[in-house]
Amino acid sequence: MIIQGSKSALQGYDGKYRQRTERLVEFTKDACKLYRELLNFPDDVTIVIKPMKKFAGLYYEDKKKVDISFKFNPNIPFLEILAHELVHAEQHHTSKIHPVWLEKKHAWAYYWDGKLWDNDITDYQRYINQPWEIEAFTRQSELALTVWEILEAKYS
Ligand SMILES: [Zn+2]
Repeated sequence: MIIQGSKSALQGYDGKYRQRTERLVEFTKDACKLYRELLNFPDDVTIVIKPMKKFAGLYYEDKKKVDISFKFNPNIPFLEILAHELVHAEQHHTSKIHPVWLEKKHAWAYYWDGKLWDNDITDYQRYINQPWEIEAFTRQSELALTVWEILEAKYS
């Protein structure tokens, strides 16, 4: 596992976010040791704490990389976003989900549990109703709480 702050998070904005980013990196390292016991994500996953505009977190299955926004304090919401993206990492790592190239549509789509899913996402409701998002949203709170119970004494 590689867990680091991006160059812009550490050095950009006149160094304003360096401390926060460094703290989040340490917090994420501790959290991921615990998530490792709860989730089957790749050993060589990379997690980058960085400025993000649109999303709080993203998982890139092709790079086995999680991006997490640095605009979170080390608290439960941050742990939930981290858990959410690591559930996606597990889904890909265990091949519960895998991308397929649809030549006819000239677009990527996903197989989920052996079934092809239409990936034309037109709105947020359809986005969060995809089965892999339902699973990630359903599991994130409990995973985060489990990890927070262990980390609380050190970080609160
Ligand atoms: Zn998601």
